[in-house]
Amino acid sequence: MAKVVHKFGGSSLSSAERYQAVAQIVLSHCRAGDCVVVSAAGKTTNTLVKLWQSYQQDDIQGFSDILLQLENHQAELIKALFQAQPQRQLLSQLDTELQVITLHAKQKTLHEAALLAHGELWSARILGCYLTQLGFAARHVDARRLFTLHQGQLLHQQNKRSCAEQLSERVLYVVTGFIASDVANNTVTLGRNGSDYSATLLANYIDASAVSIWTDTQGVFSTDPRKVASAIKYPKICRAQAHLLARLGNPVLHAKTLSPLKHTNIKLQVRSSFDVEATPTEIVKEGYSKAKRFITTFDDLDLIRVDALAQGEVSELSHLIQHSIHQFTTKGEAFLLIPAQSTHRVLKVLSGRANIVESALQGFAIVASSADIAQLQTLAAQLLNEQNVVVRFNHQDKEYALFLTDQAIDSDVLAILHDQLVSKDRELAVVIAGLGNVGEVFVQQCQHQVARLQQQFDVKVVALVRSKKMLFSANGIALNTWQQQWENESNTYSNEELIERIGELDYEHKVVIDITASEAFSDLYPQLINQDCHLISANKYAGTAQSAWYQQLCEQLFERNLYWRYNTSVGAGLPINFALADLQHSGDRITHIDGVFSGTLSWLCSSFDGSQTFSSLVLEAQKMGYTEPDPREDLSGRDMQRKLLILARDIGLTLDLADIELEPLMPQELAQGSWDEFLTRREELDVFYEQQYQSALAQEKVLRYTGSLHVLESGKVKAKVGIAFVDKSSAIANLTPGDNIFVIKSVWYELNPLVLQGPGAGKEVTAAGIHSDLYWLVQMLK
Ligand code: ADP
Ligand code: ASP
Ligand code: MG
Repeated sequence: MAKVVHKFGGSSLSSAERYQAVAQIVLSHCRAGDCVVVSAAGKTTNTLVKLWQSYQQDDIQGFSDILLQLENHQAELIKALFQAQPQRQLLSQLDTELQVITLHAKQKTLHEAALLAHGELWSARILGCYLTQLGFAARHVDARRLFTLHQGQLLHQQNKRSCAEQLSERVLYVVTGFIASDVANNTVTLGRNGSDYSATLLANYIDASAVSIWTDTQGVFSTDPRKVASAIKYPKICRAQAHLLARLGNPVLHAKTLSPLKHTNIKLQVRSSFDVEATPTEIVKEGYSKAKRFITTFDDLDLIRVDALAQGEVSELSHLIQHSIHQFTTKGEAFLLIPAQSTHRVLKVLSGRANIVESALQGFAIVASSADIAQLQTLAAQLLNEQNVVVRFNHQDKEYALFLTDQAIDSDVLAILHDQLVSKDRELAVVIAGLGNVGEVFVQQCQHQVARLQQQFDVKVVALVRSKKMLFSANGIALNTWQQQWENESNTYSNEELIERIGELDYEHKVVIDITASEAFSDLYPQLINQDCHLISANKYAGTAQSAWYQQLCEQLFERNLYWRYNTSVGAGLPINFALADLQHSGDRITHIDGVFSGTLSWLCSSFDGSQTFSSLVLEAQKMGYTEPDPREDLSGRDMQRKLLILARDIGLTLDLADIELEPLMPQELAQGSWDEFLTRREELDVFYEQQYQSALAQEKVLRYTGSLHVLESGKVKAKVGIAFVDKSSAIANLTPGDNIFVIKSVWYELNPLVLQGPGAGKEVTAAGIHSDLYWLVQMLK
């Protein structure tokens, strides 16, 4: 069985809880023989760099303060994670190591790389021992015994042999990232962020099938998601673009990460150790993904011009300063971008051949396809001008454009650049599930509506799904001939296949439109969200699921920056959702929602005048297609109960179906049994209805079937769906048969309520309501 290499970055190991979470990932994702590569915990390498600097500056107090800080951090991790015996041993090992560091510092014999190596040595040891404590066969390995360099070059053959010899047992190896040794057994590093590179190197040496880079974001985004909330997570990016991003210093991957994968089929993915269910970003070979757009930012850099550069010199310099250096040529002159704190070291090496052109620069690079880059560069220059950001240096290459300034590119400016440069020309893949009455009309309307949306956004219907068959075409289905395509190309439907095909879609955005009435389909929502799909539901099941499940769904959507619209699940196309949202946005507090939210029950109650029996009216409605196949589904009131719950949740109430009292519009006994049995007992329904009808008349009222939700002063909620006797003059009494009505009272609409009324069912209006959701989704994504 092919092995897998998993790499956990410092951000995944920043606390004892994170080690525990990583251990859980290892337990569920790794098998004996796999390798785990770890970085130093949290910001340990940065602290070790500071320790080195204080050593160089002979800052004795600073040195011991920083050492104490490191000791406390490590000791804290050890104490939180281990039982008494291993704890004692690990603390004593740590103590010995810190004493050796102190001694070397006193004797002036510290070595930079050997000092920095401690971060990874500690984290590999802690994770290895912690996994052992959990009963997992794990062993920690010092990568200096695996990776040897000679004059800066890795000795691949020798390293491969070392790995074969030393990683041959059926245990999980926890290998230190970042570090290696030279032929004289001195410690060397692979450069800052180098653990990604360690992971792919190791994967190459052990012939692994895949590398997973586990980090603190869900994958590779269009820009740093910590700075821009609307950053888009890409499902796939090609190796060349990932490599370019890395060369430009983006931290998500180290610059050399991809080189060991060249000419191999080793898969590479970036995924989140904080959100294990989220789909990763796959870094795929050329041709397997469209070119994407990115903005990557720079902080505190110096730009230097170099007269002459020898071959390999930049990589030596980058090795020296432990940081990637971006190199480019413009107008025949060679430039380097150097982290400001390392400029003096670089200038020392390049003495007499290099000058600082600009210092203390911030900035960004736009990465895009070569066809787009010139236009994006011009647009970026305009935007910066509008934002009063003065560009100090600008360079355009084949697939990126670089802007350097001495002003901070804060999140606001970055968000504007991102919206205008990256968010343009994005594609939205639409999956339509459910081609019943409403679904078919929706698809028909799509021809016209998608063309309209395409003026703003590239919208493509990529899948049509029925319960038994589906048509999936990643490049888009021709909407005018879909029936033909369906005949020729549709396949058997399965949930697994749908999820898999959605996972393979290479689109910036995806939406699944659920026009099914299937509870089983709504059960797929968490998986669809894991595939980064926005959701549009006409289906009511998810919106009325158990609170815990529903809340988790909402949280999952929030975490992934995804939207869920369900306009038509209540009142079809009527804008009840807008009305409720708008009142709340404007600071109002909704106290009552009353009404009739079922077209069928509205028609039945409003049409009944005693001239015929209620059951014959029900059968008439059934014949006209106004009811569910079994009309008792409507008479049970459950559909209205679900709708009332959706409205309740929309106004921020945490209710469940069970919190809404339900009184069916039929005697309880008739709810059981077959439809035929019901028919033989239909008189019982007539007697029941007649009694209610007469009681209402006696009180000079009208019988209606209503939902009502009252939020009392105390905050308590009274919610009921059932028979109500309403005033003859009320809006509910005078409802056009078949219409829905929503009567909303709020602090501002207290005496004279806000009333929304109109057809609350019907395929055209419902399909149009779903188009409204799609339209608003596009507006939100734009
Ligand atoms: P690790 O500790 O796992 O190696 P790093 O901190 O080195 O992680 O890199 C991950 C960080 O990269 C993220 O937390 C994020 O802030 C930053 N980042 C910058 N640009 C991007 C991007 N385009 N996509 C994802 N993350 C990015
Ligand atoms: N710990 C090292 C660093 O901080 C290596 C890595 O994180 O990949 O640069
Ligand atoms: Mg990193």
